[in-house]
Amino acid sequence: MSYSRVARNDDIASSECRPGCGACCIAPSISSPIPGMPNGKPAGVRCLQLDERNLCRLFNDPRRPQVCLRFDFDIDLCGGHRDEALHRIAALEMAT
Ligand code: SF4
Ligand code: SF4
Repeated sequence: MSYSRVARNDDIASSECRPGCGACCIAPSISSPIPGMPNGKPAGVRCLQLDERNLCRLFNDPRRPQVCLRFDFDIDLCGGHRDEALHRIAALEMAT
């Protein structure tokens, strides 16, 4: 079976946001309205605006929730790869 590194570029440790990760658009709850999700979204639910490449469809769109604009890469939360980010953000949700 072939294995493409290109499809797994989010598992490389970095010090900045990994395009194609999308963990912060899945793991946390968002209480503000999102286009297509007027009541926001619960924790662990994929945002409807996250496309198939795990990129935000609303990038540079004024309808993008403020909370999304404020969320920035944080090594303590984002970790070194996507699964770590999903786990850490979910743990933070549970703790708050
Ligand atoms: S969880 Fe972190 S690395 Fe992943 S998309 Fe969000 S900010 Fe970027
Ligand atoms: S609106 Fe965009 S940035 Fe905000 S949670 Fe959805 S996909 Fe992520």
